[in-house]
Order: sequence, then structure tokens, then C-alpha cells
Amino acid sequence: MITAPEIKAQALALGFDLCGIAPVGSLPELGFLREWVDHGYAGEMSYMTRSADRRADVRAVLPSARSVVMLATVYHVDRPYSIERGKPTEASIARYAWGDDYHQVIGARTDALCRWMAERAGAAFQGKAYVDTGPVQERVYAQHAGLGWIGKNTCLINAEQGSWLFLSEVICSLDLPPDEVALDQCGNCTLCIEACPTEALPRPWVLDATKCLSYLTIELKNGVPESQRDDLTNHVFGCDICQDVCPWNSAPAKSDDGAWAPRAIFDRPSLTDLWTRSDAELRVAIKGSALKRAGVKRLRRNLAVALGNSGDVKARDALDQTMSGAETDKRSSVRDPVVAEHVDWAQRKLALTSQG
Ligand code: SF4
Ligand code: SF4
Repeated sequence: MITAPEIKAQALALGFDLCGIAPVGSLPELGFLREWVDHGYAGEMSYMTRSADRRADVRAVLPSARSVVMLATVYHVDRPYSIERGKPTEASIARYAWGDDYHQVIGARTDALCRWMAERAGAAFQGKAYVDTGPVQERVYAQHAGLGWIGKNTCLINAEQGSWLFLSEVICSLDLPPDEVALDQCGNCTLCIEACPTEALPRPWVLDATKCLSYLTIELKNGVPESQRDDLTNHVFGCDICQDVCPWNSAPAKSDDGAWAPRAIFDRPSLTDLWTRSDAELRVAIKGSALKRAGVKRLRRNLAVALGNSGDVKARDALDQTMSGAETDKRSSVRDPVVAEHVDWAQRKLALTSQG
């Protein structure tokens, strides 16, 4: 026998900041995903389109599921928000990607909780642990587990901790008492919708991923459409703006977990510093980091666009120098046709800027 308070105590002991229990069943919000996908908001994320029905009920992945143990981990570290930094020559990287890859770190902790539950619950226990990558609508279950509410920016917000949270879960066969669903506390606020630079939040609680800088810099596999390149400004991986402006993040909880401390190369780097790194250096830097999802080529593609947007004379020199001779050999990713086309666009934009 194992109880909900024991599971929650163990979750905290393993390093999670929040733990709650959500019921399994037809939660009303689970149906919105199909509508969202049918609207075309998922763009090229075919894995979302393919798995939308599977994501409507966790019993699709674990038929014996009775409860979802939802977990949240604060990753906020003491660095200014992107809206405070605002230098066009500084590379903007989403906060969650500064340190170690949360899939690995949180995945190991969530697996440890699942094992611990299995040991105590006995042979009949069935459980599955996921972090982000599973076919689970984590934010919906997190809201029903009382961890926070889904804000108009579509992030999960906890009134005490803020929204800089990694979510993970153990779907399990235990019939645990669910926590109270968390209530929406956005009220009349619309700051995130107004602040989004690309109008990617067409309505409260709806994200048009095809306009979102996170999608454009991370998910989009080929070229960034020319009409959207100016929108990238200095964003090279993800975007934090709609969380930066949220009043619930004005004094968020901070993490002292070394896993989320920025790696030196990603600690407020300049665009030219990142661009002039060799491919080998970039590969080492993104190993074991969430940036690995973009890979060196997509990172270069985004850096080229951001350099083009920077209006910086040093950016022009950096691009020119790296596109010839031995310098290119150290950065063979720039020979990729997609990357090369974005570099060409950036060089043309910078030439026009310097003429203006
Ligand atoms: S992450 Fe950035 S681009 Fe995407 S919705 Fe938020 S503010 Fe807009
Ligand atoms: S900025 Fe305002 S509307 Fe947006 S998520 Fe935060 S509280 Fe809600």
C-alpha cells in the first residue's frame, strides 16, 4: 500500500518542487488539442497531428491508468529577463535551454519516482514516466493536479513559483485521491498577448505555433520563411517574452540546482561570438543540452538570421570572414544549402542597413 502523501514526500525528496495528483478520465480541456491541430496551428509538427487522438486520454498509453502523478521543477536562475536585456547583438536563447537537457535530468528523477512507487506498491503496479516527449497533455493534467493554471500565454503558472517550470509525470494504475483543480488567475490581464512580437497568441489560451519564435527557431526543419525572418530579431533558440512579461513571474522562485545554471557559452553570448565558433565547438556546447534538438545546422541558420537583423557592422565582418577558405572548413555547416541561403540573406540585409 502506498499513499498520496508518501508519493508527494518522495517527489520532494527527489528534487521536484511541486507534486499533485490528477484524475484519469475525460477532462474537458483534453478535447481542445484536436481542434487546435485541425486549425493548422501545429504547422510542421506532424508528431502532434499524428498523436492528437492518442493524447486525448492517458489510458491510450496505459490502459490500467487510474491516476496521473504530476511533477513540476523550477528552472529559473538569477539572470535578467530577455525583455530587460534587449541588445540586438546578444543572442537570445530560451531560459530552459541554458543548462543541461531537462529530458535527461528530469527524466532520470521521474523514472526514479516511478521505480520507488513500483517497489512499494507491489506486483500489481503499472506505471509509465514521461517528460515532455510522451503523448500526454501535461499542462491539462497539471492544472487538474492543482499545480497551477494554464495562462493565456498557454504556460502553466503556479501562484507562488511562477511559470518557469519543467513538467513531468508518472501515469499509474493506483487509485489515488485527486487534488483540487487549480483556478485561473489571469483575470483581465492580457500582457502576454500584447507583448508577443509575432501575434502568435491570436486569442487567450490559443497559440498559433506557426507564428511563434519557438517553433520557427526550433521546430522548423528547413528554411525560415523570408517574410518571418525579421520577426526572429536576435532569437536563436526559443523565446521567453510571453513569460517575461507575466506579472506572476515578477518574483518567481529560483532554483539553485546546478543542472539549470547557464553553460558558459550560453551565458548571455554575443551573436558574433557564437557564430565564429567552429562546428566542433558548437557540437560540444550543445551536447547534453536542449539545444541539441536544433543541432548545429539549425543553430547556424538562426544565428545567420539574427546577425542579419542585428544591424551590427561586426556581424557583417564575421559573416564575410567565415564564408571563405580555411575558415569555412572549420564551419562546414555553412556549406549546407539552407544555411548558406540564410547567410546570403543576412549579408544582403546588413549591406542594405549600412547603406541606409
Ligand atoms: S514564445 Fe514568443 S513568439 Fe511564442 S507566443 Fe510567446 S512571446 Fe510569442
Ligand atoms: S501575462 Fe497576464 S494574461 Fe498572460 S499568462 Fe500572465 S497573467 Fe495570464
